[in-house]
Amino acid sequence: MTDTTDTTATPVTAEGEVRMLIDGQLVTAEGDRRFDNLNPATEEVLGQAADASAADMDRAIAAARRAFDETTWSTDHALRQRCLRQLHDAIVSEQELFRSELVAEVGTPVLVTYMAQLDAPLQDGLLWPAAMIDRFEWERTLPDSEPFGMPTSSRVVKEAAGVVGAIIPWNYPFEILINKLGQALAAGNTMVIKPAPDTPWNATRIGRLIAEQTDIPAGVVNVVPSSDHLIGEQLVTDPRVDLISFTGSTATGKRIMAAGAPTMKRLFLELGGKSASILLDDADLESSMAMVGFLCMHAGQGCAMQTRILIPRSRYAEAVELAKASFETVAYGDPTDPGTIQGPQISAKQRERVLGYIDQGVAEGARLVTGGKRPAHLPKGFYVEPTLFADVDNGMTIAQEEIFGPVLCLIPFTDDDDAVRIANESIYGLSGGVTSADDERALAVARRIRTGTVSVNGGVFYGADTPFGGYKSSGIGRQNGIEGFEQYTETKTISVGR
Ligand code: NAD
Repeated sequence: MTDTTDTTATPVTAEGEVRMLIDGQLVTAEGDRRFDNLNPATEEVLGQAADASAADMDRAIAAARRAFDETTWSTDHALRQRCLRQLHDAIVSEQELFRSELVAEVGTPVLVTYMAQLDAPLQDGLLWPAAMIDRFEWERTLPDSEPFGMPTSSRVVKEAAGVVGAIIPWNYPFEILINKLGQALAAGNTMVIKPAPDTPWNATRIGRLIAEQTDIPAGVVNVVPSSDHLIGEQLVTDPRVDLISFTGSTATGKRIMAAGAPTMKRLFLELGGKSASILLDDADLESSMAMVGFLCMHAGQGCAMQTRILIPRSRYAEAVELAKASFETVAYGDPTDPGTIQGPQISAKQRERVLGYIDQGVAEGARLVTGGKRPAHLPKGFYVEPTLFADVDNGMTIAQEEIFGPVLCLIPFTDDDDAVRIANESIYGLSGGVTSADDERALAVARRIRTGTVSVNGGVFYGADTPFGGYKSSGIGRQNGIEGFEQYTETKTISVGR
C-alpha cells in the first residue's frame, strides 16, 4: 500500500473512464450516450460516463448469467483467489488516481480517502474474502439418520447464489463497491454493478482494471453506469438475477423489496440510519463534546453517523456550549485541502434537502445554536454550514429522519432507561454509541440498543471481518464478516440413501 503520511490531494492526472464493462469488453453505451460527472466542490463538469440504456443493461445481465451457468467460475476456488489478488494489486497500482478521482467526483475531503473512503477498504476488502475461500465451510456432513425408517447420509453444501445485481450509492462508492465485489466474487457469484449516477468513475476505473489487468473471465463482472435509476431497477425485476445487494436509502430499499417480490429476489439491503450516541452521566463531557465536530466529516454523508447526541439533563447546558465551540471550529470547504474534514454535499438537490430539514427543525421549535445556512464565503459548491440544534425533542422531524448533512441534534435525557428509550425510539437501527467512565455500565446499555453496531467508549467497528448492517428499517443482512460472505451463498442439502 502507498505511504499514507502525505495527505495532499494530487490533482486528477488521468481522464476518468467513460466506458462500461460488459461481457469482458470496455464499451460505450448504445448510441454513445453519455452523462456528465460533476465536481460537487466546484460545480464543474469533470467529464462523462457512458449512459447505459435498457438494452445495455440487458446485455450485461445476459453476460453475467452466461458466465455463471457456462464457466467454471462458481466452482474454481483457485481461479477466484488469483483473480481477487490480481484485482487488489491492480487497484493499488492506481491508488493515487483513485484518491484524486474520489475527491473530485464525491467531493470527499482527501483526509477521508486515507480512511474509509479508499485506503481502509482497499487494505482487506478483496484479500480477506480471497483468504476466506480456503477457510469457509463449503460442505458439512450430518450424522447418519433414518427418517421414516430410510437410512440416509446427508451433506449440506454451500454454493454461490448466482447472478448478483450490486447497486451502489454515492457517499462511500469505492468502499461499498469493493466490499460487495470481494465477498460476492469470492463466494463464486457473477455480478452486474450499477454505480450511482453522481459517482461513476471509481466503478468504471475498476471495470477497466478488471478487463486489462486480471484473469476474471468475460461476463463475471459487468459495470453499467446510467443516469437513469430505473436501469438499476431492471436488475431487480429481471428473473436472470438471483440476488440484489443494495446500499442506499430506506425509501429505495422498500421499493426494491416490492419490485423484487415477483421474481423472489434474495435481498441484501444496507439502508439509512439515525444513530444515537449516549453520554452517560459519568462520561468525560469535555473530551466527548470536543469530538462532536467530527460528525461533520464528509458533510455528514455517512449512514452510521451518530447524529443524535443524548446528554444527561443535569449537564445539558454545559454540553451545548462545548458542542457549539466544537462546531464553530470545524474545518470545512475545499476537499483537496488536507486540513478539511467537511466538503460539499454531493449535489444541489442534496444541499436543498439538508437546508429544508434545517428550516423544519426551526419551525418545529428546536433551537438553532450555530450554522443553518449556505456559507457566504463559498459561493461555488454545494456547501452547508456545520449546523447544531439544541432543545430537540426526539419526536421532531430532525430527530427522526435521516438528514445526511452536517446537522447534529442534542437531546436531553433523565436516566439510563430514558436514554435507551430515546435511542430506540426510531424506525432505524443501524448504529449507536455509549460513553461512560465504566466499561461494564456502558456495555450493559449497549446490549439494550436495537442496532446492528454499537461503539462503546470510542471502539471502532470496521474491517472486512466485521459484520455491519442494520436492524429495523436500516436493512436486511450484513456487509462483511462471515455473515456477509454467507449471504452470497445458497444452501443445498443432498441426502443419499444407504
Ligand atoms: P438512493 O437510494 O437514492 O440510491 C442508491 C442507488 O440506488 C443509486 O445507485 C441509485 O441509482 C439506485 N436506485 C435509485 N432508485 C432505484 C430503484 N428504484 N431501483 C434500483 N436502484 C435504484 O440513495 P443515495 O441517495 O444514493 O445514498 C444515500 C443513502 O444511502 C442514505 O440514506 C444512506 O444512509 C444510505 N447508505 C447506507 C449505507 C449502509 O451501509 N447502511 C451505506 C451508505 C449509504
